[in-house]
Amino acid sequence: MADVKNITVIGAGTMGHGIAQVAAQSGFQVTLCDLKQEFIDNGLRRIIQNLDKGIERGKLAEEDKKSALAKIKAITNLEEAARDADLVIEAVLEKIELKREVFGNLDRLCPQHTILASNTSSISLTEIAAATKRPQQVIGMHFFNPVHIMKLLEVIVAKQTSDDTLQTVLAVGSK
Ligand code: NAD
Repeated sequence: MADVKNITVIGAGTMGHGIAQVAAQSGFQVTLCDLKQEFIDNGLRRIIQNLDKGIERGKLAEEDKKSALAKIKAITNLEEAARDADLVIEAVLEKIELKREVFGNLDRLCPQHTILASNTSSISLTEIAAATKRPQQVIGMHFFNPVHIMKLLEVIVAKQTSDDTLQTVLAVGSK
């Protein structure tokens, strides 16, 4: 089972910002990547809002907010986002061509050991995995909205997913 420290989230929208937040709150170093600075800023703003609400409700301390935010790096450069990732969680729009393109790029740019996960709701993981040269390291991590409230995570294997990839992702998900 691989040791995951750095998680990269692709897409800072409804799901991506929430996934980045819970990953940072769980102690992972997080890189959040989107196409434009305004999308990233928007994702970060939503994370801060969620954390502030948690503080208001007495569920979080100011320190928790600070340490979560300190763990999140937000960038628009995919190459840089891919470079140190142990696990990438893709949360771009639900379009097969886009997902296959993003997975192809990630496969090219990420280190060999990196696991590539998709938050897709309905697209075949087997088809997404086939867009890479590491299909055994491709898996589904389906979070639920709003991610920082919903504890359920559905893990979906592709036909090609290895047991090692599954065990690593189950461990990350539990954390
Ligand atoms: P969204 O439209 O809110 O966010 C998608 C983000 O991806 C946008 O910010 C967009 O700029 C970005 N993006 C697009 N192409 C990109 C690229 N090439 N590189 C980097 N960023 C890119 O969408 P969402 O609702 O967060 O959905 C994302 C995924 O999560 C979809 O696959 C969807 O099916 C799945 N999902 C959504 C929900 C939900 O309730 N919204 C629940 C579970 C799963």
